[in-house]
Amino acid sequence: MTSPFVSRHIGPDADEQTTMLKAIGYGSVEQLMDAAIPESIRFHGDLDLPAGISEEQTIAELRSIADRNVLATPMIGLGYYNTVTPAVIKRNVLENPAWYTAYTPYQPEISQGRLEALLNFQTMVTDLTGLTTANASMLDEATAVAEAMTLARRSSKSKSNVYAVDADTFPQTLSVLRTRAEPLGIDVVLVDVEGGELPEEFFGLHLQYPGASGAVRDHAALVEAAHAKGALVTVAADLLALTLLRAPGEIGADIAAGTTQRFGVPLGFGGPHAGYLAVRAGLERSLPGRLVGVSKDADGDQAYRLALQTREQHIRREKATSNICTAQVLLAVMASMYAVYHGPAGLRGIAKRVHGHALTLAGSLTAAGIPLTSGAFFDTVTAVVPGRAAEIVEAAAADGVDLLQVDADRVSISADETTTDAHVATVLAAFGAGVSAPAECGARPLARTSDYLTHPVFNTHHSETSMLRYLRKLSDRDYALDRGMIPLGSCTMKLNATTEMEAVTWPEFANIHPFAPSSQTEGYEHLVAQLEAWLAEITGYDAVSVQPNAGSQGELAGLLAIRGYHRSRGEAHRDVCLIPSSAHGTNAASAVMAGMRVVVVACDADGNVDLTDLDAKIAKHRDQLSAIMVTYPSTHGVYEQSIADLCAKVHEAGGQVYVDGANLNALVGYARPGKFGADVSHLNLHKTFCIPHGGGGPGVGPVAVGAHLAEFLPGDPLQQGDHHAVSAAAHGSAGILPISWAYIRMMGPDGLAAATASAVLAANYVAARLREHYPVLYAGENGLVAHECILDLRPITKATGVSVDDVAKRLIDYGFHAPTMSFPVAGTLMVEPTESEDLAELDRFIAAMIAIKGEIDKVAAGEWPAGDNPLANAPHTASSVTADEWTHPYSRSVAGFPEGVDRTAKYWPPVRRIDGAFGDRNLVCSCPSPEAFED
Ligand SMILES: *Cc1c(COP(=O)(O)O)cnc(C)c1O
Repeated sequence: MTSPFVSRHIGPDADEQTTMLKAIGYGSVEQLMDAAIPESIRFHGDLDLPAGISEEQTIAELRSIADRNVLATPMIGLGYYNTVTPAVIKRNVLENPAWYTAYTPYQPEISQGRLEALLNFQTMVTDLTGLTTANASMLDEATAVAEAMTLARRSSKSKSNVYAVDADTFPQTLSVLRTRAEPLGIDVVLVDVEGGELPEEFFGLHLQYPGASGAVRDHAALVEAAHAKGALVTVAADLLALTLLRAPGEIGADIAAGTTQRFGVPLGFGGPHAGYLAVRAGLERSLPGRLVGVSKDADGDQAYRLALQTREQHIRREKATSNICTAQVLLAVMASMYAVYHGPAGLRGIAKRVHGHALTLAGSLTAAGIPLTSGAFFDTVTAVVPGRAAEIVEAAAADGVDLLQVDADRVSISADETTTDAHVATVLAAFGAGVSAPAECGARPLARTSDYLTHPVFNTHHSETSMLRYLRKLSDRDYALDRGMIPLGSCTMKLNATTEMEAVTWPEFANIHPFAPSSQTEGYEHLVAQLEAWLAEITGYDAVSVQPNAGSQGELAGLLAIRGYHRSRGEAHRDVCLIPSSAHGTNAASAVMAGMRVVVVACDADGNVDLTDLDAKIAKHRDQLSAIMVTYPSTHGVYEQSIADLCAKVHEAGGQVYVDGANLNALVGYARPGKFGADVSHLNLHKTFCIPHGGGGPGVGPVAVGAHLAEFLPGDPLQQGDHHAVSAAAHGSAGILPISWAYIRMMGPDGLAAATASAVLAANYVAARLREHYPVLYAGENGLVAHECILDLRPITKATGVSVDDVAKRLIDYGFHAPTMSFPVAGTLMVEPTESEDLAELDRFIAAMIAIKGEIDKVAAGEWPAGDNPLANAPHTASSVTADEWTHPYSRSVAGFPEGVDRTAKYWPPVRRIDGAFGDRNLVCSCPSPEAFED
């Protein structure tokens, strides 16, 4: 029996599907799928997955899994700390679809709320680190530190390949650093910062502040010595500690990196959390990741948008600063709101309390004759207990507190915001010590004297009423899936069902430390193993790792698996990665990170990989061929007939086939990449498997491989072996895996296949209805598209001057988020309606697009001048439409309430069209002073 959830997830009901099928000339969904998907790749069996169950049954199953996790008091530290998520933030951000169903703010006019929140995040990070520019989040601390390393490599004048790394660095950070360094020929050399010995030559120095042991050291002399060698210095700093300690920027650091997890973001067994990266003046243009900046709109009013997009992988491909695409926006918003809510005094108070507990621990241990490794610390003390470490950790665990056993002789204890006097007493009892007077901390000389978070936004919303209204004000400015469809090609903005979201905030999933003992994480291990097995079944591969915390990281992990495979066979020289010209920018950027050389393969006039050019490129690079990276269905939204051929050609030359699985929503239940010739894929759980986009993250990018690559999958970041880790935690962003688990569990094999068919039906319906108004650029053999379609605006632009931008912005006036703009083909719109939109919403979108075509025709006919028409002036704000003076050749009502818009439910963008270039020339990436808003 089909689960009742299937008809909640899939928008069009049977009657609506019949209507849609009629419009495209097919009698049934099965007929359509038979015609659309090449028989050579078609999977005709049933996926071996449990039958779908109801929402209530799913919650009950998840409940029983959650109950197998054990809630303890984690005082393990290593960059992960228990924290209190203010309830007003938990409910109104983390659990609020207005925030979590938004997309990356590429259309800034409908994203001003989250852009402001991210600007607050950037301001928070720059203030606390004492640097000038911070980006809008990284995937976690370890990857942020790795990005800092490559940033130093790009920016240092030193010719050395040596990256000097503080031996007191978090082990998981070290693991990811090694993973990322090796393919690039960077030599990671550990240095004992206590001894002050630096290598002869090096291009960068990484310092942990406070150290993994908790030690707080004065790094000023090391920074100076590194600069004398032409090296850049990164300080991985704890933001809460920085409320009390001298900032990295104040000791001359060039880069700061770390995590914002302890600013109110639950542990989640390792993620998702927002990492951060900040740089001094002069490095901002090589900063990886998304950067929010201030600019102005068409009326000259202040407005926010993503800055310096030209650095990014979408534009620069193999020359990009990094492959990062999806980041951690939702978590960055949470962390920034934690700072807004507490303000500088509140944060300082929390830090002092945390520090106070550490002082008591230190004083009491010392009084009991137990030495510490350092007398200067913030929240973490490491006790020296020769031969007794295991027994002490065990004793504390028996009383519900987890400590970190560093080795046989040392135990670390980290205090956090949730630590109480009782926890401290329990810990001390495990050491056989009582509570004594607090120690004098040796970090005093490093105390912070500078101000931070002085901007009014951090000093205003401290009552819950004010905070609630601030959150509401910002989310009201944004367009998310809770308002209407977001037909973004390649991004798969489908339903993120409430039931799927429920378990994320249960304490048994939310409050588990990534390094908790395995006896406490049975529930998580079960859920991860089951999800990995289901994903393997769905994709036809043999093994899956959910460790990569974005699609981009899955790409890197997959390419590293291919690299490892070739090397294991004595073919380390295979380093050429073929990538079609239509590929997503992350593909090329990831290949470079995996130490590969990118060779571009042309596409033919139909948008398919040009097999003649492929043959030529294979012939030319045969002996060096490592892999080909293709997206399937192609980024052109078509099921290419030649995929099986393509795989065979590459294999014959000794290469491996990487299929970018971002478009899996067109395949689930109908074709399996692992069975039609591919060796490895990454999936985007935040696309096909219902994890919400969060306004630009979190994501999960599992990597799936054939059996021959299984041994090269990412390893545990706490094991410093051959097995590279790509994220700081073994299961990456484990905290959001219950979402995808719940989706698959509720849909069952038939529901999943029905969703795929419905997505393909919707895309073909949109293509069929819009074809006579806008040319559909590419189609497969039967004139069918896959799950998305590209509308070609280039002829229109050529004839009328109306650009793809004008249409995208005008869609805002009609109450829509624009489709994907100018990817994969410049001057086009790529529409992906997904299976979740019902016929009424699809028709509303189609009607808006047709009405816009009518407006374009008026411009073409000269009825409206090219420079002054509803398209050129879009979007229209309420303020502009109600201005006392109106000089345009079209009416106010055409401007604000175009055809089909519900006058009682109008979405008004808060700003008019934003001038991105102005902001790039006058770069401002932190909160502007309130006076700046005045003129
Ligand atoms: C979304 C996407 C990616 C990148 O995934 P992220 O999670 O954003 O890193 C890669 N390839 C394609 C085709 C995509 O659509």
